[in-house]
Amino acid sequence: MVLRSALLVALLAAVSVAFAQERVQVMTTTTDLRSLAEAVGGDRIVAVSLVPPGMDAEEYQPKPQDVLRLKQARLVVRVGLDFDLWVDRLLAQVGRPEISRGGAAYVDASLAIAVLELRGMSVGPGDGHAHGSGNPHYWLDPKNAETITANILETLARIDPANAAAYEANRQAFLTRLNTKLAEWEMRLSPLRTMPIVAYHNSWPYFARRFRLDFVGFIETKPGVPPSPSHLAGIVRDMRARGARIVVREPNEPERDVAFVASKAGAQVVTLAASVGALPRADDYISLFDANVEALTAAAATR
Ligand SMILES: [Zn+2]
Repeated sequence: MVLRSALLVALLAAVSVAFAQERVQVMTTTTDLRSLAEAVGGDRIVAVSLVPPGMDAEEYQPKPQDVLRLKQARLVVRVGLDFDLWVDRLLAQVGRPEISRGGAAYVDASLAIAVLELRGMSVGPGDGHAHGSGNPHYWLDPKNAETITANILETLARIDPANAAAYEANRQAFLTRLNTKLAEWEMRLSPLRTMPIVAYHNSWPYFARRFRLDFVGFIETKPGVPPSPSHLAGIVRDMRARGARIVVREPNEPERDVAFVASKAGAQVVTLAASVGALPRADDYISLFDANVEALTAAAATR
């Protein structure tokens, strides 16, 4: 009897290993794309983000094991728009045409996204960021998840046609849930439409456009370079003139200049997640917005 149950356990383990091997291995560059790939793939895929949660994906330094992980991937999903340029170097090392640019198992999630702040268009003096091909933080408009998941679905269904209908149904169920949440977020954020906001890094134009928020200035003038005292003084002056009372900081951004500006302008610091996993409660795509909406409405309520 003992022997038979041991055999049964071994058999079940073998079956679950076989099942796991059948799941499509998806590598994404970011946690946001991992979460959206999971929304489409469900339990038929295993999605892993190259950049770990809480790390700045724009500054990511690839690790040797990333090459091994990409060698095993059946599908690659990237942000594009010069956000994750480092993955091109990795893919060149891996040397598998199917998961490289133009390949049948390669997804540039920015395809068909309406890009904001294209170079030379709306980059004003206070708008300090080094974004190459327009602002790349497009996943922060929840409506863009429709396009991103459509891009993932098309390629996933092509490489795993047996499960195409399931992927399509997963995506529809996810978008239905997302659209219900979107209406809730829009309602909850509506009191903030008249409250000017300053942020450290310009991650927020898509978020701001969707929820009609007004980001009036950015503390960072260049990534990794501390802002000058005169830039900080200008931000404080501008915040006072406009009555801006909220300064947005992401958890991996330096605290000192944000705290300085907030105290001089009589504003409060609100910590927001620009990516899944940057805050403990933002552990998937929908809870990312839940956490940010909660933080912003809490700050607005205490004014
Ligand atoms: Zn950025």
